[in-house]
Amino acid sequence: MMDSHTAMSFTHRFNQLLVAVLPLVPRPIVKAISSSYVAGETMDEMLTCVAKLNALGARCTIDLLGEYITHMDQAHETARAYHTIVEQLAKKGLDANVSVKPTALGLLMDGNTCHQLIEGIVAKAASTPIDGKAPLVRLDMEHSDCTTPTIHLYLTLRQQFTNVGIVLQAYMRRTLGDVRHMCSQLAGAGGAHFRLCKGIYVEPRTIAFKDKDTINKNYVLVLEEMLKQGAFVGIATHDERLVWEACRLLDEYKVPKDKYEFQMLLGVDEAMRDMILGWGHPLRIYVPYGKDWYGYCTRRLKENPTVAGHVFNATMRKWFPWVFHAA
Ligand SMILES: Cc1cc2nc3c(=O)[nH]c(=O)nc-3n(C[C@H](O)[C@H](O)[C@H](O)COP(=O)(O)OP(=O)(O)OC[C@H]3O[C@@H](n4cnc5c(N)ncnc54)[C@H](O)[C@@H]3O)c2cc1C
Repeated sequence: MMDSHTAMSFTHRFNQLLVAVLPLVPRPIVKAISSSYVAGETMDEMLTCVAKLNALGARCTIDLLGEYITHMDQAHETARAYHTIVEQLAKKGLDANVSVKPTALGLLMDGNTCHQLIEGIVAKAASTPIDGKAPLVRLDMEHSDCTTPTIHLYLTLRQQFTNVGIVLQAYMRRTLGDVRHMCSQLAGAGGAHFRLCKGIYVEPRTIAFKDKDTINKNYVLVLEEMLKQGAFVGIATHDERLVWEACRLLDEYKVPKDKYEFQMLLGVDEAMRDMILGWGHPLRIYVPYGKDWYGYCTRRLKENPTVAGHVFNATMRKWFPWVFHAA
């Protein structure tokens, strides 16, 4: 029998091996696997996917793939594409907002231009209501170099707009303090609009918790603080223990439905998605799409090999269900 440490180290090495062999896997196979997690390459494919999810009762948020840029022209192009996405969502009357990666708009290359481009997207969304409501522009949170500039960007944009939100990561040691700081800055200005996730980038132990149980404890601590502060929270997780903890807190604090939603990634744990919807909770699906699907998938897996293990398991279960049902 393997002890838990040996099992974890074996799983880690297996996940690293999956990432290492990825370049050898033919693209059509990678595409077949990633098709569960990416809505497609084109705007039409994305709109069709959103319409299907809306019909199931789920809201969506759209992520245009392609965050690593080498030139600000790419940032301008991405900003223009987001304007078109906002227009199309409104034209089709779809229940969706957008998520942007600040680095895709130049956060670490040219902060001022990045600010202007994101301000332009937020202003476009503010003037393009869907069902009478301006869609939210959510600032995704990236690796730790981006945390302080993204928070600064968020607080600056909030002086002008209410349809903008931010993501915080429970694995960051600073997050509880960031929540308190942002909530105090935005008290009386409609409050903060958060998405809380565990965090996907590999960060050093000095700034981020590494132990899974501690990350989960911090997730619950931060979530409770956000709810106590009266902020809106997008509870972004597929971890059933955290979903349970969130339901407990929502009940304890009697949080109204316009102050929270669950959030999940496209294609991940659809059984959990259907249960959450069935319990009557608002739920939003994160829908990535775009031509850069291959770069997106391979980068994500390299950044965090654990995801490779999740994807491998989910794919095996989908393609060979009888093996797992027999066990
Ligand atoms: C809506 C949404 C937005 C996000 N935005 C950000 C962001 O801005 N910044 C950031 O750093 N991170 C973001 N993340 C990612 C997040 O930080 C986690 O890395 C990811 O959600 C996995 O954490 P978990 O809470 O689901 O728990 P885990 O313990 O990692 O996963 C729980 C279970 O979910 C399943 N699972 C999880 N991920 C996958 C997957 N990719 N494929 C297949 N199965 C999977 C597995 O069965 C796993 O056992 C986002 C996540 C969501 C849901």
